[in-house]
Amino acid sequence: MSKYLSPRLSSLKEYTPGEQPRDKKYIKLNTNESPYPPSPKAIAAITRSQTEDLRLYSDPECKNLKQAIADYYNVSIQNVFVSNGSDESLNFFFMAFCDEERKVCFPEISYGFYKVFAGLYGLDYEAIPLKSDFSIEPSDYMNRGKNIVIANPNAPTGLALSINDIEAIVKSNPDYIVVIDEAYVDFGAESAVELTKKYNNLMVVQTFSKSRSLAGARLGFAIADSEIIKDLEKIKYSTNPYNINRLTLLLGEAAISDTEYFELNRDSVIKAREYTESELIKLGFTVLPSKTNFVFAKSDDISGEKLYKELKDRGILVRHFNDKKICEYNRITIGTMEEMKTFIKTVKEIIG
Ligand code: PMP
Repeated sequence: MSKYLSPRLSSLKEYTPGEQPRDKKYIKLNTNESPYPPSPKAIAAITRSQTEDLRLYSDPECKNLKQAIADYYNVSIQNVFVSNGSDESLNFFFMAFCDEERKVCFPEISYGFYKVFAGLYGLDYEAIPLKSDFSIEPSDYMNRGKNIVIANPNAPTGLALSINDIEAIVKSNPDYIVVIDEAYVDFGAESAVELTKKYNNLMVVQTFSKSRSLAGARLGFAIADSEIIKDLEKIKYSTNPYNINRLTLLLGEAAISDTEYFELNRDSVIKAREYTESELIKLGFTVLPSKTNFVFAKSDDISGEKLYKELKDRGILVRHFNDKKICEYNRITIGTMEEMKTFIKTVKEIIG
């Protein structure tokens, strides 16, 4: 830390991204990326001439991309905000809507960035414990009198709330914003997008990083009442008006129009997930029922940390968290069926 860093930030604990090691080629099952490349239509959208156009700024209104997202979700363009990864939508939510008066709460075990954003803005947040089975208790969030952020499905557990539970939470907190972070929703949970038409305090956040294979392009979006979207735009125009680069605008537009490719990959991931779950259960693992592109699993025969290390030594990366409530588990991203067969074979070798 330099002597120049504002004291306001001196105790900020930054987010630690999953490892991206370069020492050798790993089977990468640690950052919930897609094992498949982006849609061929997206790849074809990046031409030489589009690349030459990078000398020009991108469209600050992101009109074409917003329209494509609006059409896909059957909402109006005024209900769509696009961001540099969904992390940026989440960042803007904390920046714009949370303060001393309007506090924020989220599940204690969830996406680690919520605590980081809260720390960045000096917010006095509340981390609400999960139940002993790692599920979220909906009634903990009813009439809470605070802004709420819930990842649905949750990470790293993979468990999802029903849409009825989400609606009850949104309905019971009319004076506060409820953010539903749907980064993994495409892999089996129900989206709350339709509810944004009924409730003006609901902000649904999604990403192109997982089910649309564009993690490296950095593209996410929020769907909400137009007044919330205007507030998010105000923050964007006060930080980085060109937050989506020209190539990512084109990639996103093409990716969202290629429903067939999207469904094919999503179904392959779900199939490989079901294979992985059933094989791990056969090996005696406890596996939480996942609605995502990862599984959260532990074995009584080997500690979470040891399994992580043994897998890494054998060229397979999974995500291990040190938090003592979940340190016996590993979060295993679902790769191709072939990768998951190698993973299971390797786990068998390790636990004998
Ligand atoms: N929400 C959740 C629950 C996540 O796991 C992630 C991925 N790390 C994100 C949001 C952010 O994803 P991105 O910024 O790539 O859209």
